[in-house]
Amino acid sequence: IKEIAYQKKIKIKVTIQSDLGWIKGDMTKVKQIIFNLLSNAVKFTEPGKKIGIDARNLTDGVEVVVWDQGIGIPENHLEKIFDPFEQVKRSNQSKDIGTGTGLGLTISRRLIELHQGTLTVTSKMGEGSRFTIRLPGKIAVDEQLLEDTFVKNSTPSGDFLKGITILAVEDNESNKQLIEAVLEPSGCCLKFAASGEEAVQMVLEKEFDLILMDIQLPGIDGTEAMKQIRRNREKPIPIIALTAFAMNNDGKRYLAAGFDDYVSKPINIDLLEEKIRAVLL
Ligand code: MN
Repeated sequence: IKEIAYQKKIKIKVTIQSDLGWIKGDMTKVKQIIFNLLSNAVKFTEPGKKIGIDARNLTDGVEVVVWDQGIGIPENHLEKIFDPFEQVKRSNQSKDIGTGTGLGLTISRRLIELHQGTLTVTSKMGEGSRFTIRLPGKIAVDEQLLEDTFVKNSTPSGDFLKGITILAVEDNESNKQLIEAVLEPSGCCLKFAASGEEAVQMVLEKEFDLILMDIQLPGIDGTEAMKQIRRNREKPIPIIALTAFAMNNDGKRYLAAGFDDYVSKPINIDLLEEKIRAVLL
């Protein structure tokens, strides 16, 4: 970010509390989100002005604020900038008030919420915007040592996905983006199908190590698509159902239908990774 800001003659002010603690979480994703906020800040701030990042401790967590002296966001747009459909609509308009790139903010907020945190925004037209991330789960100082040992002794999260080819069948754009944000950094090769029919066709043409299957799809549903894929292949392939609602009986039903496992929505990232790991081993 520094380089782009420098080129645009924007100053970056960094205020990070010196004894900022550690929190439990996915560093890659949190980094991506902060990077996304900083690039937006640079993008919507005029040369000669400032942007900044502040970080400080909260009682049980950490607060990170990314602020800018940019053009600001009108009050009636503040919540809409997190709405995926508004984002799509707005990106179609030629020149718009600075509110972020593509679906970045929608996904950022969802990812932060999956970490039990919040992402909020305040803004004043002509003065700038402040995006505030609050993440709970601070690790007490004496726990940090233990945590270090633990991390070093176990496989880094997501590493087992490196080089694995995954087909995700998902018709909802926002879920698609979420799956992408979660799985892509792990180094897996991720492909998408927007319908069951498309998925069946893709599996005929290409080898996949794993399929994530949404149930509610246009055309044939996920269960039917899974059955057709199984019928078409001699070699078994792990297929995990992504189900809309978590009901105890539902789970058994998906296993009985022939899925290897299921994850209910909203998707819990840790659970999804755990289940993928289990079916791949
Ligand atoms: Mn669906």
